[in-house]
Amino acid sequence: MAPPLFGAPTEATAWCECDKRVRTATGRTAVLRLVESHTHHRTLCPLLAPQEGKAA
Ligand SMILES: [Zn+2]
Repeated sequence: MAPPLFGAPTEATAWCECDKRVRTATGRTAVLRLVESHTHHRTLCPLLAPQEGKAA
C-alpha cells in the first residue's frame, strides 16, 4: 500500500503497518522529510521487506 500523499503539496500523512503510528507533516520541508524518512523506513521495515519466494 502506498503512503497516502494527498494532493496538497504542503501536507502529507504516512503510516506503517509495523507500528500503526501515523506520521503527519505540514509544510514543504516537513513533507519532504516525512517522505524521505518513510521511504527509508520501507527499506528497513520488517513488514515491508521483500519476501522472496512468497506469493503475496
Ligand atoms: Zn514499518
